[in-house]
Formats: sequence, structure tokens, C-alpha cells
Amino acid sequence: MKPTSSVRILHFWILYLSSNVSIPAWAEPQHLKTSGIRPTNLQHPGNRLHILPLLLWSKRPSSGDDKRTTKIPSNFTILPPEDPSVSRYREYLRTNTSHPNPNYDTAVAWIKEQAQAIGIEYKKIDFDPPGLFIIRLKWPGSDPMERSSLLLNSHIDVVPVDSSKWTYDAFAAVKDDKGNIYGRGAQDRKSQGAQYLEAIRRLKMRGFSPRRTVYVTFVPDEEVGGDRGMATFLKASEFMDMNVSLALDEGAATMDDVYPIFYGERSVFRVRITATGRSSHTAMMLKDNAATKLNKALGLLFVFRDEQINASNPDGNIENVTSINLSQIGGGTSPNAVPSEIWAIVDMRLRLRPTWTFSNLTNLLDSICNQSGNGVSYKVLLNLEIKEESSLSESDFWWRTIRKSFDEMGWKMKPQIFAGASDARHLRKAGIQAYGFSPLLFTEQLGHQDNEFLNENTFLNGITVYEKLIPKLANARE
Ligand SMILES: [Zn+2]
Repeated sequence: MKPTSSVRILHFWILYLSSNVSIPAWAEPQHLKTSGIRPTNLQHPGNRLHILPLLLWSKRPSSGDDKRTTKIPSNFTILPPEDPSVSRYREYLRTNTSHPNPNYDTAVAWIKEQAQAIGIEYKKIDFDPPGLFIIRLKWPGSDPMERSSLLLNSHIDVVPVDSSKWTYDAFAAVKDDKGNIYGRGAQDRKSQGAQYLEAIRRLKMRGFSPRRTVYVTFVPDEEVGGDRGMATFLKASEFMDMNVSLALDEGAATMDDVYPIFYGERSVFRVRITATGRSSHTAMMLKDNAATKLNKALGLLFVFRDEQINASNPDGNIENVTSINLSQIGGGTSPNAVPSEIWAIVDMRLRLRPTWTFSNLTNLLDSICNQSGNGVSYKVLLNLEIKEESSLSESDFWWRTIRKSFDEMGWKMKPQIFAGASDARHLRKAGIQAYGFSPLLFTEQLGHQDNEFLNENTFLNGITVYEKLIPKLANARE
């Protein structure tokens, strides 16, 4: 018996719903915008129900089509169904929270929607001056009066994008056929915020109830220093009332199966080196001028840089290394005039120790300027001293709990000093024990880079890691 056309349409629709076919051209976001359908959800098979009438209308056979057999159009790629948690993560990635003008409203709306669906308390805490805020989710513990609380933090903002260098739109969360999801924040750090939420969603679904209260914070402006985000929040009465004793914050991806756990950060020392000399026509050949002196100063500094590279461990551990990088250079007014002044900005990161302090760097710079000739000097632009480190002692309750939890789970870990800076430094300064941990194994670190991506399986594995770790920490008894 030949199928009727309505049966064929039903067959097509069942196949469409149960597969992950690419969206037909007429259902692209620009077409759907006017129809009031949220285009971001179309990868959810369930959400395609919303476009069923449109689909049926679009695919309705004309009178002459009745003799054709229905088949999947050749430009449809059939992929395995996507895990809904991956779809939700991709929605978060589509919120453009990049500096210098982050659109926090869309991201905040997404977080609120997730909290309500999961069933945990959502609160937007506003500060003075207006515009400063953080988002705090609360999962109350069964005996919070006896125990301090656990804080799971991640930042909402992301670094800017040079779209000319990206293969895909950095805010479209495109997934390729390997399951790699491209987007600014795919690693740093929207993955972590989404993983916390998905882990809590799973824990709540299977009836787990934490003894300690678990807070999840989503903070703005981490990528520009955190002063308007985490640092402001830590001074607020709302934070004092939370009685936090342990915080997890951002870590980094690793290429192997050993999780880096970050317990401290390096200090920042940034200087502007300025060289002055006689200006001249570029046709003249004076023995030295501003440029030759700056060249000499940078050359000496780079000798020290090479020594630091040689001193770094083969595994890339930067704990005892001072990193030095030239970030900006400038001067001059005309291509055919040697300027009287040229400058360079040099950024250095170091772990402060009794034997290695900012004064070691000022001594080095004094010596370099003296050797580079008359008129070479430097000015300190930033000396951000970060001394606080979280404990790695077996006598410390939280460190012992974390280490034992990893042992019990059979996870490998390596305590390290974080190469960059994160909000964990503000937490440590406020007396909170904070560890940077992002469960992204076998993954190249792509935070802040062009074409940042994360594989969906790595994202899913990380959810499982938090699903196992959160109960260990939330129920730990002192
Ligand atoms: Zn980050």
C-alpha cells in the first residue's frame, strides 16, 4: 500500500524531531525573528515542536507533488541528538558579554531562567554606583547553622573578539562535526558557570540535598580586574551573611589527565621604559639616539627573559619564573624624522618570595637603564602585589578534604600557581580559601585566543566531575 502524503509528512517530522538535522534556510534566525520564535533553541529536538506549523506549511506538497516520495533534502546533515545541557551551554555562549561593552542583561536573563528551572533561589544584588551587580544563586543546606558554606564562582564577562580572525561568529556557538563548540567564553569561563548549573540540576533531580549551603555566583568584570564585580561584592553585607569558608573559582584546561589545582597567583609588575636622545632627519646617521638606546635596554631585558625561559620546567610550570613580555611600543611623529623620545611597556609576572620581590626587578631595571646610555628611565605603571595563597597542608581541613576527594575518585591533580590573575585573589585577600579548578582534561588552553572552542564531550565530562565533587565538599564534616 502506498503511503498517503500526510503519512509521509508525519514520517519526515518524526525523523526531524528525533535527529539533529541542520536548520533549513527559511528557519534561520533572521527569518524566525519576525515570527517571534526564539532561534537559539532550535537545536533542541523538543523545541522544534514550536515550529511544527511553519514546517508543515513550508513542506506542504503542491497538487503536483503527490506522486513524489518524501526524502531528506541532500543539504541536511544528520548528527546524533544533542544533550540538552550542551544546548543550554550554547545558549549562554550566544550572550555577548565581551568587553569593552558587555551586554550583561541577556546573560543574566539566561542565568535567571536556569535557576528557576532548576529550582534554586536567584538573586541579583545591586551595588552603588548603579550598574554594579553580581548574581547569587542559593541552594540551602540542611544544617547551615552548624557549617560554613561553599561558594562556586565563575565570571560572566569575556575578553574582546577580533572577528576577522575567527572562522565562525564568536557569539553563534557553532558546533562542528567533531563536536567542537566555538565561542568566546567557550573555555574562559562560561563553560564553568554552565557546568556548575548542570551538576546542581542533576544532583537535585536525583534528590541530593547538601548539608552546607551551596552558593553559585556569576560575577561581571573579572577580565578587567574584578574591582567592579567580585571585589565590590566581598565588601557587601550580603557576602558577610553567607559565611563562606571554601570557594572554587576558575582554573585552566590541561592537555593531559592531571587536573591543575590553583592555590595562588603571581604578582604583576608593569613598567614603561622611556629612551630620549637627539632628534634628527632619518637621512643622518648619529651614533646613538632614542631608538638605539631603547633597543639596547630591551635587548638586556630579553637576555633576562631568555634566562627565565631556560629556568622554566619542561612541564611548563611557571611557579618560579618571572615572565616578561613587551606589550606596547610607541613614539615619533613622522616616518622621516628620528624622534627625541621612544617608549615601550613591559609587563612582568612573578611569584613573590622572600628571595624574589619587586625590588629585585627594580634593581634589574636600574642596572639596564644605566647600561643603555644617558636618558633611559622607567616608570612603574602597576605593581599589583598578590601574596595570599590557599593552604596545601594536610593539617588544613579544606585542603585535606579536596585531596581525599580526588583520591577517592581516582582523579590525578597537581597544585599550581595560576599564570594569570583571577577573582580568586580577591577571595583569598578576604580570608576565603579559594582554589582554581576547571575540569577540562585533554584540552588545549584556548582562553583569550582566536577561535576559542571546547568539545562537547569535555564539557559533559566536567559536569560529571562537579556532580561528584560538590556533594563531597558540601557534606564534609570538620
Ligand atoms: Zn577567566
